[in-house]
Amino acid sequence: MIKTDVIIIGGGSTGCGIARDLALRGIPHCLIEKGDYAAGATGACHGLLHSGGRYAVSDPIAARECFDENMILRKIGEKCVEQTGGLFVRLPGDSKRYRDLFLRKCDEVGIPTEVLSSSKALELVPNLNPEIEEAIKVPDASIDPFRLCMLNMMTSRLHDNLILTRHRVTEIIKSHGRCIGVRTMHTVTGEIKEIYGNIIVNAAGAWSNLVARLAGCEVPITLSKGSLVITNHRLSDMVLNRLRPSSDGDIIVPNEAVCLAGTTSFAVEDPDKISVRAAEVDTIISEAGRMVPHFNQTRIIRAFSGVRPLIKSGKMDSREISRGFQIINHENGLYSIVGGKLTTYRLMAEKMVDVIMEAFNLKKECETAEKPLDGQEELSGYPLSKRLADMQNIICECELVNKKDVTRTILQTGTKHVGDIQHRTRLGMGPCQGGFCTFRALGMMHDMSVLTPEESLQGLREFLQRRFRGIRGVLWGDQLREEQLIEYIYLGIFAMEKKP
Ligand SMILES: Cc1cc2nc3c(=O)[nH]c(=O)nc-3n(C[C@H](O)[C@H](O)[C@H](O)COP(=O)(O)OP(=O)(O)OC[C@H]3O[C@@H](n4cnc5c(N)ncnc54)[C@H](O)[C@@H]3O)c2cc1C
Repeated sequence: MIKTDVIIIGGGSTGCGIARDLALRGIPHCLIEKGDYAAGATGACHGLLHSGGRYAVSDPIAARECFDENMILRKIGEKCVEQTGGLFVRLPGDSKRYRDLFLRKCDEVGIPTEVLSSSKALELVPNLNPEIEEAIKVPDASIDPFRLCMLNMMTSRLHDNLILTRHRVTEIIKSHGRCIGVRTMHTVTGEIKEIYGNIIVNAAGAWSNLVARLAGCEVPITLSKGSLVITNHRLSDMVLNRLRPSSDGDIIVPNEAVCLAGTTSFAVEDPDKISVRAAEVDTIISEAGRMVPHFNQTRIIRAFSGVRPLIKSGKMDSREISRGFQIINHENGLYSIVGGKLTTYRLMAEKMVDVIMEAFNLKKECETAEKPLDGQEELSGYPLSKRLADMQNIICECELVNKKDVTRTILQTGTKHVGDIQHRTRLGMGPCQGGFCTFRALGMMHDMSVLTPEESLQGLREFLQRRFRGIRGVLWGDQLREEQLIEYIYLGIFAMEKKP
């Protein structure tokens, strides 16, 4: 039997942020995640570190939270954040009245803006539509959500707390009406564990109502699916937003070697039953193409969806629902934390841990806004050119991930899952989507005796299935041609289908 003070369910940005805050305030805890870190909305998002501009008109409180947290994260997480800056772009036909309102609201919220002529904006982002009317510069940035979660969990690990990835919470154990622990099942081996704690935090995002129901409670959330596409190269070095009320395909975010564009918004019932519709891909491409015409000719290498856990409201359009967050005390030892944004994860964690400290009658101030994230010195950081130092031993050419980084990750995590290496190093996240490098990483895991030959083959099969799910919605033109080459390599040269 495992005993701790706080059990956190969910290893997205919210759960990982709570773990770090608890670690810094000296509270023993255990984080339980059914996949790897960032397996939910966190790993399926744009990676936009909002300046708040996007919400300045519709939700000024959330906008201010975003701005404040944006400033904090630049300071504490410089190796996760690329300070790209952002533009809100006004196209012909976009409302001038909305533009004036946007500027006024940003001013009221305290978000700095600079109005740029179209020629000035084109100097900054040459791929922009030359017909734009103007652009407004804001302090948006790009953030790596996987790296963010890993670094938050590093603090928890350094303070000797228990972290269980690939463990699904299947039951909440109650005694005399109080939640006193959880039962988990390992998602690969099926092993069952019991973990007991004084407080249980449900940070399961879109799954939080399903988790709350294990304790007979309800979490009022609306699930909103959003889809995104990834381009095979960076079309812009700045975040681009369309200057209009939130709509489909109005944000493009550069992230290392690629750009992410999206998103859409559809209410869904089940977070495990989502897929990208062809019509969503078409809409995103045509809308993003209005800001950056080159988008229409660029190779799209992946399409995927995530589910936003939004606080339930009477609003019909989920885009109008607040991006604020809520902590629910179920009055039985279980707390749920829902809503919010990746950008505001630290603030959400701070407020949650304040509640926990009060429940324990303990006093220690939050330090997460000042202390830099642990483990950043191990990351090579931006820009990409810094990684050119070790060119002889590159394993992933697209993202310039070298053998040293892959070896270190395998040794540090002892993982048997190649996906875990991808999240920690960005291996396979570039234009070829792992087609040319994943088998090398699996080969290294085999050489290091982490995997048997059978396990590495199985890992390769699972990777190819996951990869195909991501690319099947974007198979046309050059992407289809590359896919045929990859298929030939795996089926023809490696004879994957003939392997036992
Ligand atoms: C398409 C899209 C784009 C977005 N873009 C942005 C953006 O650019 N910037 C921004 O700031 N925000 C963005 N967001 C919002 C942001 O992604 C989310 O608000 C945030 O990541 C939620 O984090 P979370 O930790 O609360 O939830 P999640 O990341 O969903 O984490 C919940 C975790 O709980 C785990 N879990 C669930 N059930 C169990 C169980 N029974 N046992 C164990 N573990 C369990 C899941 O596997 C998951 O990893 C976007 C969201 C979407 C969907």
